[in-house]
Amino acid sequence: MEKYQCRCQYVYDPEIGDPTQAIPPGTPFEKLPDTWVCPLCGLEKKFFVKKEGKPTSESGHPTIKVKVKCFSTLRNAEKCDFKDGTEHELFEGSNVHDLVEKLEIPLEAIMIVFVNHKEVDFQTVLKNGDHVALSPKTGAM
Ligand code: FE
Repeated sequence: MEKYQCRCQYVYDPEIGDPTQAIPPGTPFEKLPDTWVCPLCGLEKKFFVKKEGKPTSESGHPTIKVKVKCFSTLRNAEKCDFKDGTEHELFEGSNVHDLVEKLEIPLEAIMIVFVNHKEVDFQTVLKNGDHVALSPKTGAM
């Protein structure tokens, strides 16, 4: 039976089940009730991925890499450079909102988001190699 991994790196092992939610040993991941959540971080089943297959990060979860540029007041040498952009690794399926959270930029500070030079919204799912640019509410571009 296949193991599944959460974004927080918890691994569901069917051999063990999940005693914290009364899941007996021998329960395949597919048979877990829809109400089951990650016992460590509370994420739903849909955020889990199979432990094998696909290129993966060190933790086993598939990732993508994007380049992020920040304009004006959002500039930050460490997390979001203005000149060349800063590379960030994200879990596959992450959207702009997830990226902004990772950068620890308050959502309300961002006015316009560009992905590959097109204006997009926060729900836009990012792909490997995307170029993301964030522009604040005020300040020159
Ligand atoms: Fe988790």
